[in-house]
Amino acid sequence: MPHIVVADPIHTDGLERLLKQPGVTVDHPGNASNEPLAERLRRAHGLIVRGTRVDEALVADAGQLQVVCRHGVGYDLVDVPVLTRRRIALMITPEANAASVAEHALMLMLSLARNVVQVSMGVRRGEWRVRGQSDTFELGGRRVLVVGFGRIGTRVARLCAAFGMQVVVYDPYIPAGTIRGAGYEVAVDRESGLAQADIVTIHVPANDRTRGMVDAAFLSGMKKGAVLINTARGTLVDEGALEAALRSGHLGGAGLDVLSVEPMVTRLSMLSLDNLIVTPHVAASTAEGLRRMAWDSAGNVLDFLAGRGDRDAVVNLEVLPTTS
Ligand code: NAD
Repeated sequence: MPHIVVADPIHTDGLERLLKQPGVTVDHPGNASNEPLAERLRRAHGLIVRGTRVDEALVADAGQLQVVCRHGVGYDLVDVPVLTRRRIALMITPEANAASVAEHALMLMLSLARNVVQVSMGVRRGEWRVRGQSDTFELGGRRVLVVGFGRIGTRVARLCAAFGMQVVVYDPYIPAGTIRGAGYEVAVDRESGLAQADIVTIHVPANDRTRGMVDAAFLSGMKKGAVLINTARGTLVDEGALEAALRSGHLGGAGLDVLSVEPMVTRLSMLSLDNLIVTPHVAASTAEGLRRMAWDSAGNVLDFLAGRGDRDAVVNLEVLPTTS
């Protein structure tokens, strides 16, 4: 009988989907014992994680585990080679939160363009006549560089185009024809894309090749006064270099949903800057996003254990039997 462990709280609809499945037992934060998670995994066939790190120590004794589903799409907290070596599939919920994250990126752009956080806080202090608003700007007509043209980047590009922005895409892994066919300009190289953009928005995965890619050189290559948006992963950005670029006035602003260390344990000195907006990794956490991520996580694990897993949602395809 399949036994599924849900390591972190998920939307009730996803949990219900598991609990209503005949012949399946579910260990979840609402009914779990005080045993360490690694112990609880000893008899598990499926595991759903949100913020839990999945490493060798966690799965060492999970001899029956066949599938881990990460609620969301980023799996930088999962040691994929460890799962692959143990022939455990890693699944994600590919489309579940892309619309929410794309809207969040646009929200950060708009908030920085119109200085929303500062003026709203001013109104709470009774300030109505706001000076210095001539430095706010419209998104329409501005040039945006979308770095990474995947599930989220394509949606951001579409939303930016709807605002009348000139959309330029940098993604060396996507054929130029695909980007042009979607109606956008292709950045011939990263440097030229950065040099001309008023807004740069990051939508690439965090991995060994991309970690720290938004470094001092990247930032100094951006146009003076330009704005950086990062809703991808905090580890992509050198936060010291970002703070320096904001303090020197080289960058006009930054909007971050993610930090290199989460949750933030020590208050970052850059938080004193007015031209910085930080949200606490909530871009995907709309009602719709949370429901879809939980629903799809449950479906992924149930289907996989029933032998009809969605290959498109599997990260380490090499653990699946080859199809001829
Ligand atoms: P995706 O895999 O669909 O797309 C990523 C794209 O980046 C691909 O097209 C790939 O070709 C491109 N890419 C890879 N390396 C690149 C590079 N060096 N330069 C330019 N392009 C490169 O991923 P996605 O679902 O769109 O997710 C994008 C990012 O958003 C990931 O980092 C993910 O973890 C993050 N994310 C954040 C949240 C949140 O809550 N803030 C939620 C979901 C996803």
